Amino acid sequence: MAHYDTVIIGAGFAGAVTARQLAEAGRRVLILERRGHIGGNAYDRLDQAGVLIHQYGPHIFHTNDKQVYDYLSRFTTWLDYAHKVVANLPDGKGGRMEYPVPFNLHSLETAFGPQEGARLSRALLDAYGAEKKVTILELRQNPDPDIAALAGYVYEHVFVHYTMKQWGTTPEQIDPNTTARVPVFLSRDCRYFQDAYQGMPLEGYTRLFDHMLDHPNIAVRLSTDAFELLDLSGERLMFAGAAFDGPVVYTGAVDELFHCRFGRLPYRTLDFKFETYPVDTWQSHGTVNYTVDKPYTRITEFKHMTGQALPGVTTIVKEYSRAYTGAADETPYYAILNEENNALYDRYAQLAARFPNLYLLGRLAEYKYYNMDAIVARALALAGELLK
Ligand code: FAD
Ligand code: UDP
Repeated sequence: MAHYDTVIIGAGFAGAVTARQLAEAGRRVLILERRGHIGGNAYDRLDQAGVLIHQYGPHIFHTNDKQVYDYLSRFTTWLDYAHKVVANLPDGKGGRMEYPVPFNLHSLETAFGPQEGARLSRALLDAYGAEKKVTILELRQNPDPDIAALAGYVYEHVFVHYTMKQWGTTPEQIDPNTTARVPVFLSRDCRYFQDAYQGMPLEGYTRLFDHMLDHPNIAVRLSTDAFELLDLSGERLMFAGAAFDGPVVYTGAVDELFHCRFGRLPYRTLDFKFETYPVDTWQSHGTVNYTVDKPYTRITEFKHMTGQALPGVTTIVKEYSRAYTGAADETPYYAILNEENNALYDRYAQLAARFPNLYLLGRLAEYKYYNMDAIVARALALAGELLK
């Protein structure tokens, strides 16, 4: 494809969905991707042992948005998979125990025993009602002494240490929407998500992206950093040495667009430690959260999630969280949302707004904690706007 009228930077969900929508409407789209592969952080591949792994951490698709589900279903069929997570922690008697996360009525009985568990269940159900979700911060406000004691237990055994590992700070000091993602659930439903649609792309995420980007109006240039071609130093947006007036959709970190001139936007990064073992199965669930001890936050065993039938070998990944420094080999994974950082983001977004044909889209470019489905929905909406 020699000519293009739209440039998209990044081949994750934000970039790929936008590209596909525009391409189907007849736009000629060039995608630049810094990495040597498509898929962004959802990229998966076979490792040396032949196990399908998620290179940038476990990705489980879930949504209540039928439009998003139907859209992605054009590019993949689905493995019917409901993600389940357990907390693994010391049992106080020299051993370890496991119970469901989000902390639910089963967790309560495991932690407190059947009698005390049933009594506390009743107190909770009386206070909030069956099947209700209550955030840990909300639960801690409850003045009832039984519920306050229970909230203290859950805070100590599920939230505070995990959050300290993940964010380097306590649950009160991070955006309340973050811990609200994993509320206490007054239910016996042990699934991590209750969304109407959930599953895994049957042949993996990378195949889904292969299908989505397979269109005559889309050209993808891998291992190409957009900053080799994009120039925002003047009044007009320049691309490949010439003024470019077509839409440019940027899905990378917004501070990098402007050489971090106001300072770097803070992020948490992760170190992933992959380990392969000569066994069928290594752990009980897709993901096990180490909520009290251990230096890593969680361990994921991919075969549980992908349904891959591969006897005698399995691969797990341990996640270690730390501050992102901007070093070339680090990836910014989680925006650290607070007033100060959001204000810094706004300063960069204002610089970007000087270019009317530059659009910021995605988890990095918008500095938000978006799941995949939210990004797909936003990409569909932006493509709709661009096609008006
Ligand atoms: P990305 O996937 O990050 O894609 C952006 C792309 O832009 C990258 O490929 C990057 O290389 C490229 N890029 C950046 N700058 C440049 C440049 N200058 N030039 C060229 N290319 C550039 N969501 C869920 O729904 N379910 C989950 O289970 C889930 N698990 C997650 C687990 C982890 C550990 C993390 C970090 C996230 C998880 N997410 C999950 C969120 C999910 O990863 C994001 O919603 C999704 O990847 C966002 O897509 P995106 O296109 O905005 O960003
Ligand atoms: N969290 C926790 N303990 C857990 C699970 C989650 O404290 O066992 C908190 C923690 O602060 C985490 C947040 O809830 O960052 C959101 O968890 P989620 O599993 O949604 O995080 P993600 O999968 O996006 O990393």
